[in-house]
Amino acid sequence: MTPRIVAVDRLGDTVHPSPLKLHEADPEHPNVFVKESQFIPLQITVDLEQEREGNLLFEKAGPRESIFFDAAQTRAAIVTCGGLCPGLNNVIRSLVLSLRCHYGVQRVMGIRYGYHGLNPAHGYPPMELDVDDVSDIHEIGGTIIGTSRGPEDPAVMLEYLRNLGVQMLFTIGGDGTQRGALKLHAEARKQGYPLAVVGVPKTVDNDIQYVSRTFGYGTAVDRARGIIDIAHTEARAVLNGVGLVRLMGRDSGFIAAGATLASGEVNYCLIPEQEFALEGERGLLAVLEQRLARKRHAVIVVAEGAGQSILAQDSLEVDASGNVKFGDIGIHLKGRITAHFKAQGQTINVRYIDPSYAIRGLAANTDDAVLCDMLARNAAHAAMAGRSGLIIGYVHNRMVHVPMEMATNGRKKVGLEGALWKGVLAVTGQPASWL
Ligand code: ATP
Ligand code: MG
Repeated sequence: MTPRIVAVDRLGDTVHPSPLKLHEADPEHPNVFVKESQFIPLQITVDLEQEREGNLLFEKAGPRESIFFDAAQTRAAIVTCGGLCPGLNNVIRSLVLSLRCHYGVQRVMGIRYGYHGLNPAHGYPPMELDVDDVSDIHEIGGTIIGTSRGPEDPAVMLEYLRNLGVQMLFTIGGDGTQRGALKLHAEARKQGYPLAVVGVPKTVDNDIQYVSRTFGYGTAVDRARGIIDIAHTEARAVLNGVGLVRLMGRDSGFIAAGATLASGEVNYCLIPEQEFALEGERGLLAVLEQRLARKRHAVIVVAEGAGQSILAQDSLEVDASGNVKFGDIGIHLKGRITAHFKAQGQTINVRYIDPSYAIRGLAANTDDAVLCDMLARNAAHAAMAGRSGLIIGYVHNRMVHVPMEMATNGRKKVGLEGALWKGVLAVTGQPASWL
């Protein structure tokens, strides 16, 4: 079967020569611009015994020689939505530097407090973002332009952007943000307004499809590992000590699994992808009881979205963005473990740590800072080339263009048959199944 090109929306012909000085013709290195004929295949493992499947070909991200926008006449805006994630300010900074310094874009604005800042009824005017405004923001966590949850009408947002003379919008956020961005892109198409909407995928949980690693994930795992080590120290210091750490991961357990592997001190790692039981011969309480009898301490890591079926279903509240608010599995586990051992007249000392907010607000570590810079620059290149309705993806160490629809129609999960989870089973020695 022949490979299939993943089409990305284009605003029109690319009639302007790129003003990028960094990529001036150099006889020694002539191919500094990405050619429109260059693609990255999704599948790189070829099994000669299997029938060949049609591969997907993603456009290679990067600077184009001819671009759609006349930079000097173009205004750009940046918005950050959803929860905090290490690296947001790095992305903002690299976008501003690339657009203003390298392309010579006329003006860059920071939209305040997520999509709310695109509805004039809320009354938060945009922030001017020039080189001096962003010079040292990568040293701090959070987002200097603010964030929020809660939707806005795409028609209202588009009218506001048109009034500001903005032709390109960078949406830094998770799946919710990119779904909102896709609606705005569709509205601009409908009205025939040439707006480039380019998403930079943000999720500390690392759960966006076609993005092998999202920024913030590495920083989160770094800190989570340290917290696990502290929980281990606490657990070992007392009789029947249980260090219980709840980590981020609503739908996917990448942080819990990654930090478990990195720490090497975890005995049980519970993630949303795998059902577990508390009761029963193979349930967590019985397994923990046997371990405490042998070792007198244990460390448990639980992702926030794990064990939701164990929690009462009556607390299905939603937040302003419509995300289901999860019951707190960490507090529930603490209560159940304590009650179980007390009922048997046994000493139990559960030390519960939930570091979520202490992780999300961190500044990006070195690897994440590099990733943020690459994502932001490629987002700027894509917008200048007139691409819209896409996010910058990351496959096989290459940045690619992924249509927003494709990136948001599902979530990346920890595969229970994959190398990451097999590694967790090996390092913890926990049962492969609880049921
Ligand atoms: P996080 O990983 O922190 O959840 P997110 O981008 O998914 O990041 P959300 O709060 O879910 O964060 O969504 C961000 C913004 O996108 C919010 O303003 C939300 O209302 C809006 N949004 C979410 N889903 C949609 C949708 N289907 N259509 C339009 N807007 C949406
Ligand atoms: Mg979300």
